[in-house]
Amino acid sequence: MNFIQIDNEGIALEAFQVTSPNFDARPEPNDISMVVIHNISLPPQTYGGSGVIELFTNNINPQDHPYFEKIQGLKVSSHFFIRRDGSLIQFVSCCKRAWHAGQSQWKNKSRCNDFSIGIELEGSDFDAFTDKQYECLNRLIHGIKRVYPIKDVVGHSDISPGRKTDPGPFFDWQRVLVD
Ligand SMILES: [Zn+2]
Repeated sequence: MNFIQIDNEGIALEAFQVTSPNFDARPEPNDISMVVIHNISLPPQTYGGSGVIELFTNNINPQDHPYFEKIQGLKVSSHFFIRRDGSLIQFVSCCKRAWHAGQSQWKNKSRCNDFSIGIELEGSDFDAFTDKQYECLNRLIHGIKRVYPIKDVVGHSDISPGRKTDPGPFFDWQRVLVD
């Protein structure tokens, strides 16, 4: 399987780049050791629109949808977003800390944003993901592992249990080629 190349600046060369203001420096820039998989869709279970891009760029219009009223003002981001068609958008350099995990803990470490790369799959807890999403995800994880010492690939629900349920029961971990 070919992989998605990540350059020295933490940019995936084949990803469409959309700049999010929601990032900051990693407290330990050399500790990039985890990948966190999420699902997201805005409005929920509505695919193909611009809601996620608007959320991650602080451009949500609360008048567009009742759900958007609840999330306006959130300052969040993710390094990557994989659309249903397998296309890849990058919002934050892998070298920087994106704001995707929130309160979180894995083994003896909390604040997982500090040392993780966040990948959002366009989806929900109620729908299967597409073949093209798994293909892109695996090529991306492969590329990430070539440049960063990734020890764990986990779901958001693994690091924020009780608070988060994504990537959800339809995410098939058997299809993640971890090695
Ligand atoms: Zn999540």
